[in-house]
Amino acid sequence: MTYNNKAPCPCCGYMTIPNNVDALAYICPVCFWEIDFFVSSDDEPSDLNHGLSLNKARENYKLFKTISWELRKHCRPPNRNEYPAV
Ligand SMILES: [Zn+2]
Repeated sequence: MTYNNKAPCPCCGYMTIPNNVDALAYICPVCFWEIDFFVSSDDEPSDLNHGLSLNKARENYKLFKTISWELRKHCRPPNRNEYPAV
């Protein structure tokens, strides 16, 4: 599913990922997850994300609104047009 030509971020779920998710190393501006095609499961540590797994990043996002507390200053709230369609 795409919306505004963007696809949902695998971490925060906001519609921030361009190019139908064909966006290796694109960094989500909302949660700071970096798109990584080289991991085969959501529990596998991602080298592009400093060894964080997607599941751990999602957990952190719930707590901090970013994948990692140290990165919070780089993140921004989602724009109105990035909310997933319901
Ligand atoms: Zn995100």
